[in-house]
Amino acid sequence: MEGGTDAQIGVALGFGENAGRIMRLETFCDEFVAFVRVTTEAGEVGWGQCANYNADITAQVFHRQVAPWALGRDAGDIGALVRLVEEKEHKFPGSYRCRALAGLDTALWDLAGRRAGLPVVALLGGRPGPLRAYASSMRRDIAPADEAARLLRLRDGKGFDAFKWRVGAECGRDRDEWPGRTEEVIPTVSRALGCGVAKLVDANSGFSVARAIAVGRMLEDEGVEHFEEPVPYWLFDDTREVAQALTIDVAGGEQDWDLAHWERMIAMRAVDIVQPDMMYMGGLTRTLAVARLAQDAGLPCTPHSANLSLVTICTMHLLGAIPNAGKYLELSIEGDDYYPWQRDLFLEDPFAVEDGRVRIPDGPGWGVEVNPAWIERATYQESALGRTPRSAYARLYHQGETT
Ligand SMILES: [Mg+2]
Repeated sequence: MEGGTDAQIGVALGFGENAGRIMRLETFCDEFVAFVRVTTEAGEVGWGQCANYNADITAQVFHRQVAPWALGRDAGDIGALVRLVEEKEHKFPGSYRCRALAGLDTALWDLAGRRAGLPVVALLGGRPGPLRAYASSMRRDIAPADEAARLLRLRDGKGFDAFKWRVGAECGRDRDEWPGRTEEVIPTVSRALGCGVAKLVDANSGFSVARAIAVGRMLEDEGVEHFEEPVPYWLFDDTREVAQALTIDVAGGEQDWDLAHWERMIAMRAVDIVQPDMMYMGGLTRTLAVARLAQDAGLPCTPHSANLSLVTICTMHLLGAIPNAGKYLELSIEGDDYYPWQRDLFLEDPFAVEDGRVRIPDGPGWGVEVNPAWIERATYQESALGRTPRSAYARLYHQGETT
């Protein structure tokens, strides 16, 4: 699996071991977002991002447990660097390591694109351009009629032809957000949207197997095509039971980062659609591994990208390149009122929608520019070769190395 991953990146793409040594790794963060800037000895830079939420904590992990392994190494072999961090920090498997690793990985991919003068999608063999998006609601605290009304406004105003809304309650153990909401919101929204649009729902681990199957039958009757995370996502057998009982596609995996879990989930057909989140996964390189596992199993990959930060832009590039790309990009419809922290992250608007489509950026790297005014306000931290003392643990591992 790891070998297959490497074949898709780094050396196989021609960057090899000649992109220059990594001299600086900087983070710019608040509680929700942590951007990463990598600088090589030639002064070339790349911008990436760690996973959102508790991003200030993730930035600490980045400087303590990711940056020390990357400084002084060549920026070109991204797969090798990702694996190095995983191996050196093998006592710290889990989400935070991956959340931090995503910052390094995505910064290095941006750097690779900038050096080649190509968007990342082109490095992966795809091309920039329009990409179908589904309008993704994040809200449960909204009455069914109000949800239908705002999705209709998006259909008519921006041309969306695919929508996702929420059923059940997050990890709700069959308790609904309020009694009867699920039974009401499914037909209300589905019938308002009418025919000719794709309809998706997300239960966020809300149901038992029995309740999920009952809700799934209702979804099938209402023409919904995608049932996300029907039962607690870590229960693969339960998820498979729901998937096997229903004709509707069951989707999942957004929280999963462990490639061994992914391999098992895919081999047992727990889900019909895989949904890795590029930032929770640890970056593009590890997400490509999940997409490849799914491809080999004949499953589509419709990643999770539930906010308007770099995760959605990176996902555009991925979807523009992989052969088993799902039917649409997840595009959050929540704005300043719900996710005020997303405001002004980038110059211009990389999420503009026309005819229900976004555009995969065609500029080098990720093709976006982080807003200097946001950076100015952010909390700054730096790890730099020769200027940042390595931790005692890192010094032990680096003993005898030439870099
Ligand atoms: Mg979800």
